[in-house]
Amino acid sequence: MQNKLSAKNRAKLLKQAIQQQYDVIIIGGGITGAGIALDATTRQLNCILFEMQDFAAGTSSRSTKLIHGGLRYLKNLEVRLVREVGSERAILHKNAPHIVVPRKMLLPIIKEGSLGKYSTSMGLYVYDLLAGVIRSERRKMLNKKKTLIREPLLREDIVLGGGLYYEYQTDDARLVIETLKTAINKGASAFNYVEVKEYIYDEKGKAIGVKIIDHIENQIFEVFAKKIVNATGPWVDGLRKKDNSLNEKRLHLTKGVHIVVPYNRLPLQQAAYFDTQDRRMIFAIPKGNITYIGTTDNNYTGQIERPQVNKEDAEYIIDNVNRMFPTVNIVLKDIISSWAGLRPLIHEEGKAPSELSRKDEIFYADSGVITIAGGKLTGFRKMAERTVDVVEKALCEEEDRPVHGVATLNIVLGGGDFKSSKKIKKYIKSLSGKYDSKGITLEQISKLVYKYGRNIINILFIFEDEFIAEYNIHQNLLLAELKYGIKYEAVNNLCDFLIRRSGMLYFERKEIENIYPVLLEELANSLGFEEIKKQAYLQEFETEYKAVLGFLDRD
Ligand code: FAD
Repeated sequence: MQNKLSAKNRAKLLKQAIQQQYDVIIIGGGITGAGIALDATTRQLNCILFEMQDFAAGTSSRSTKLIHGGLRYLKNLEVRLVREVGSERAILHKNAPHIVVPRKMLLPIIKEGSLGKYSTSMGLYVYDLLAGVIRSERRKMLNKKKTLIREPLLREDIVLGGGLYYEYQTDDARLVIETLKTAINKGASAFNYVEVKEYIYDEKGKAIGVKIIDHIENQIFEVFAKKIVNATGPWVDGLRKKDNSLNEKRLHLTKGVHIVVPYNRLPLQQAAYFDTQDRRMIFAIPKGNITYIGTTDNNYTGQIERPQVNKEDAEYIIDNVNRMFPTVNIVLKDIISSWAGLRPLIHEEGKAPSELSRKDEIFYADSGVITIAGGKLTGFRKMAERTVDVVEKALCEEEDRPVHGVATLNIVLGGGDFKSSKKIKKYIKSLSGKYDSKGITLEQISKLVYKYGRNIINILFIFEDEFIAEYNIHQNLLLAELKYGIKYEAVNNLCDFLIRRSGMLYFERKEIENIYPVLLEELANSLGFEEIKKQAYLQEFETEYKAVLGFLDRD
């Protein structure tokens, strides 16, 4: 079978794919679209997904990267939402244990904070109950002394105690790509850099297809389907406008940013979820050699592509970190990377950004286009289920075909075939024993397993087969990872690889400083770029490379 996400065969694959009529066209390759592709294909619906940028280049690579039940939403009494996303945590962990990893989280209770001892205890208890949390991961309440032992950096004079509970850490962009890879293995098709420009209608005004532009080959095509789903996150209303179906229900975009500092500048013992001065809450999450902190939540009306962190956002986060952990004294210059994302929330009159519900909703257009809006990364499987329920029901009513119903509960996502977290650790150890003699460290193996799961094997094969003597082990490993990405994960350029497949721009920016020209050379050789394209991709990456610290030079 052809590898449908090979960047090398992309043009040919696209031309082949658009020859047929589909059951469903999905517009948008973030987590919502990817989830729908997986759900639809497991119900034996023939589907194709188009993403105008890279997969996950929208909000789905710009989140806090937590699969979480949304403890905060309990405050707004959103019990159904908390129950659903809370339960989804365990399901996603089971199906993708390599990229949905349990993490201890400390919630300090402070004087005049938004939560008191009793409400924190009750809140965490209800949270565990709603989410059906297993015994070993249930919340523990700590007194002041134990809280300060757990986290000595906390501000002693205001801490009253703490709650220790579990959330799940993920890599949002990898969750998208692994979901898509799984969907594709089951029969779906998906293409990045293909933008849906307009809908095609029949004489009764029903949408029967889309006009697309392939931004890599610069070609326009038409594709036809029985149903069309608009899953474009922050762009949802733009596509509804094209369909004349934008009504009083509309999106409300809010911006959230994260900053990244070296771990030794905020060396937390575990992740923390703490109060801000304006009675919000933010996360500080250690990850390898860095700690990332966020987020903000502000109304946003600027351009949707590439939202930026500004100095004010960064200072807000720094002020609140320094207030809670007074000895660290973080300053702007400590920041080594950052990102900003837009929440595609559903507008509710008179509500402030943090009060807007994170629930999802399906909008129906007279043309038949189905739009899914709102929601969270965590709830993507259930959002997909609700959307595909609608699609499948309509298809089954129109045609004489059986209803299959949702079947994603037990589908293991790409590379995640492990029975438990313990098995992952065992696997890392055994691989490390094997590759130690080749100079690959346990840490390098571990990093790759927590990105690619069992697919690390393919990367290690490439590493051995195509070793280049003039580069060191680390550089060869990175090249192998890139080659894997080109072959199996639709990596077309430097940004695809360094931002969304490997996450290195956010978490290992310093390490790519000297190697990205080598990676560009490999991409150009593999994909046969002309010089002009090579320079354009280089410039695009360098712009992103600078942009993550751009606020340091702006007012
Ligand atoms: P997107 O990821 O934006 O995907 C939509 C895609 O559609 C884009 O890639 C875009 O390029 C594409 N597109 C648009 N127009 C077209 C077109 N015409 N043709 C083809 N493609 C098109 N949720 C959690 O569960 N946990 C968290 O920790 C969390 N933290 C967050 C922190 C922040 C700061 C933000 C902003 C959000 C956070 N969320 C979190 C929410 C979560 O990230 C989003 O709900 C989710 O990523 C939205 O995914 P999506 O697929 O709907 O949108």
